[in-house]
Amino acid sequence: MITFEHVSKTYPDGTTAVRSINLNIQQGEFFVIIGPSGSGKTTVLKMINRLIPLTDGSVYINQKNINDYDIHELRWQIGYVLQQIALFPHMTIEENIAIVPELKKWPRKKTKHRVEELLKMVGLNPEDYLHRKPAELSGGQQQRIGVIRALAANPNIVLMDEPFSALDPITREKLQDDIKQIQKSIQKTTVFVTHDMQEALKLADRICLMKDGEIVQVGTPEEIVNQP
Ligand code: ADP
Ligand code: ADP
Repeated sequence: MITFEHVSKTYPDGTTAVRSINLNIQQGEFFVIIGPSGSGKTTVLKMINRLIPLTDGSVYINQKNINDYDIHELRWQIGYVLQQIALFPHMTIEENIAIVPELKKWPRKKTKHRVEELLKMVGLNPEDYLHRKPAELSGGQQQRIGVIRALAANPNIVLMDEPFSALDPITREKLQDDIKQIQKSIQKTTVFVTHDMQEALKLADRICLMKDGEIVQVGTPEEIVNQP
């Protein structure tokens, strides 16, 4: 579903972050990119939704070059979750989650129903949370909202960049369970970046190991663990 062909990225300052990589991410799979800090993981993610341009090679989504998509058409089919929680502080939880559905001009009723459904999915009672502001939620709860906001308008692809790394270990484990569960039920193609092997092994259908801008290995958790 997402294909990288000989993709390279050199930033304007001359740093080469990604060196001629090839990748084939399957429809519906939970694909985890792991590697040390600076290995190029975030750069790979940002190229998928055209946050940064490629220096060389091509990226395809459903066999169509990402450059041939209208930028909004591309972004609207991709949900994006960042490490730093980026909820709008002056908007309620409901308004935060409804951003993309409203951009897409969903009917109000459908949006409301979807927001409530998503809150329930991550164990938050809609009545208690719809009208709160982000600051009234714990870090873990805010991150849950960040995750469901990215899923709100049913994107075909979800990109997650170390979404749980700022959380305490217990909250983190809980959210890992939630996201695995959600991904299993909605079957959306998910590309998840982390530097934590435990997390990768727990979540992934397949793991991609990166080092110095190159792909070292791609395989199932079993293959990664059992490799000599
Ligand atoms: P990771 O996500 O694995 O930590 P990144 O993709 O963020 O790696 O970074 C890969 C390399 O590219 C690093 O050397 C980093 O310093 C560099 N880099 C990232 N963003 C920029 C930028 N905007 N300008 C210059 N160099 C960058
Ligand atoms: P631009 O101002 O470059 O045209 P947009 O207005 O499309 O960008 O998007 C602004 C920001 O919101 C970008 O960082 C983009 O990645 C993000 N974004 C856009 N659509 C979505 C979406 N469906 N899910 C998550 N993030 C999105």
